[in-house]
Amino acid sequence: MSNVEQTLSIIKPDAVERNLIDEIKAIFTKNNLKIKQDKKIHLTKDEAAEFYKVHQSKPFYDDLCTYLSSGPIVAMILEGENAVLFNRELMGATDPKKAEDKTIRKLYGISIDKNSVHGSDSAENAIKEINFFFKN
Ligand code: UDP
Ligand code: MG
Repeated sequence: MSNVEQTLSIIKPDAVERNLIDEIKAIFTKNNLKIKQDKKIHLTKDEAAEFYKVHQSKPFYDDLCTYLSSGPIVAMILEGENAVLFNRELMGATDPKKAEDKTIRKLYGISIDKNSVHGSDSAENAIKEINFFFKN
């Protein structure tokens, strides 16, 4: 049975800074994930803290929010078959050193914090995260 869904992807500051937007978008589209909407924005630290609220108790939270708000990012709605899980597969493991070959984080990630992309981890969070960036 088909399961077309949407997920939120972010190209993080380290990748935007290195002009990797088109290369990363091409990986999604070549793999049949449609970019339904996209926008380049620069979050404030408070907005980054709101976005990553699920991580507020983690030791890396403050650095993570500083980082996500350190420069422009590109937020995208990706749509396709099993998009949430499939995007996570294309991204690879959180730590680029542990990511599989040909994944985005293996190809472009610098470190566990500067790992080039974000992707929603469940259909429920995808809806929340899409609304965060694309509420109209
Ligand atoms: N992160 C970090 N240090 C860690 C774990 C995570 O800086 O030890 C950052 C990293 O940028 C990661 C984000 O926090 O992408 C969110 O962590 P999560 O565990 O949700 O990883 P993801 O879902 O992005 O793979
Ligand atoms: Mg996560």
